[in-house]
Amino acid sequence: MTDRIMVIDDDDDFSEYLAVLLAGAGYVVDTFSNAQEALDSVGLVAPSLILCDLVMPGMDGFQFIHKFRHRYPDGAHIPVVLISAKNNITEVIKAKFSGADDFIAKPINQALFLATVTCRLEQISRIRKGDLAFNIFRSEGNRTGKDHDLYKTMCAALEAGEFCAHYQPKVSRDGVIHGAEALARWIHDGKTVLPPNTFIPIAERYGLILPLTDSLLNQIKMDVENWDAKGPSDINISVNLSPVHFSFENFRNIIEHIPSKIFNQISFEITETSLLGNIDKVGDLIRHAVESGSQIFIDDFGTGFSSLSYLQNLPVTGLKVDKSFVDNCVTDSRSGALVKSILDLAAIFDLDIVAEGVENEDQKAFLFDAGYDELQGFLFSPAVSSTHFEKHYIAPNYDQLPKPSLGMQH
Ligand code: C2E
Ligand code: CA
Ligand code: CA
Repeated sequence: MTDRIMVIDDDDDFSEYLAVLLAGAGYVVDTFSNAQEALDSVGLVAPSLILCDLVMPGMDGFQFIHKFRHRYPDGAHIPVVLISAKNNITEVIKAKFSGADDFIAKPINQALFLATVTCRLEQISRIRKGDLAFNIFRSEGNRTGKDHDLYKTMCAALEAGEFCAHYQPKVSRDGVIHGAEALARWIHDGKTVLPPNTFIPIAERYGLILPLTDSLLNQIKMDVENWDAKGPSDINISVNLSPVHFSFENFRNIIEHIPSKIFNQISFEITETSLLGNIDKVGDLIRHAVESGSQIFIDDFGTGFSSLSYLQNLPVTGLKVDKSFVDNCVTDSRSGALVKSILDLAAIFDLDIVAEGVENEDQKAFLFDAGYDELQGFLFSPAVSSTHFEKHYIAPNYDQLPKPSLGMQH
């Protein structure tokens, strides 16, 4: 069951900020600007964790904890984390004695904040497993000690630089590779290459996705600069972002840290989930990025929520049509029609269109004939290491040799 987090803060902007961050990490969030109202709603909301501002008019954070602990003895297991700009030792000690389980100082560090929240939730999940009172407050969650161990291993792996980007080429109709998608890989123990489904969900939940993406971007920037220095590659690399990045500063920070000379060579893929409940803020970030010259693609298009109104309002560059539609586009007439109708949609909104998961020649022919701009899939190449990508897909351009063709070597 998804954990529910109650956020109490009289500063609506800050509440919303935390809500976006937590929703991005997969939590359900209820915000309250008034502590009394929050107190009255605890039974109804049944939160797994409460985040409470220290300084509020009326009832402050200390008073809230005092009343909460008296009024809801069955909720003794629910951690209350106090948040305050007052980051001095006296306040922290006072917070501990008031019954707070933790104390977070403003301005918050996003990765640390998410890690604190998740660790707290896991602690209680372990302590209270099987406890009836705990189950009444329905905070079972599906996280286990194993996840936490993996989190700790990942922290060490990040420090040791074990994560890297592999590149999967995108091929245009003339057979030229103008771009690639960067896909995270964990090179464990110097030899085992772990795929992202083994670590991205945990990284998102614990906030580690932020430093992880930063570290991938550092590699991508170096690779692109290196390729450009050797020859005019003009290659465009797309980077996957998580909903967590669409908290206020993060995506903005990413954009600001891309050197201007390679700005138009880095694009971003975001899923429709990043837009959920957050469309105005994400819209501003996307507009800012696109106005600065960046390109944004909607990833896994067709698998998210079906409201397409965002296409009208957001200046996204293009759509990446999900593999599930590509799989049957030749054999199933309805899938085929759907794949074509997405093209019509793209034409209306003047969007680029990429299909992913192309595995055979029939699909390739169907999609290029239909009008797709670029294709990506195992038919052409899986994601390969940076060295392999350079050698096979970029280096041929350095000396103006014939460009790599569709039947590429792996
Ligand atoms: P995605 O963004 O949809 O990436 C495409 C996935 O499809 C990749 O899997 C790619 O290897 C796989 N794929 C491409 N062509 C084919 C094909 O023809 N057939 C099949 N069966 N699969 C194909 P991968 O690398 O395992 O990545 C899985 C997912 O993990 C990605 O899906 C993305 O959601 C996430 N991911 C990967 N790297 C990152 C990252 O750096 N940041 C974030 N936030 N997510 C990432
Ligand atoms: Ca993607
Ligand atoms: Ca995708």
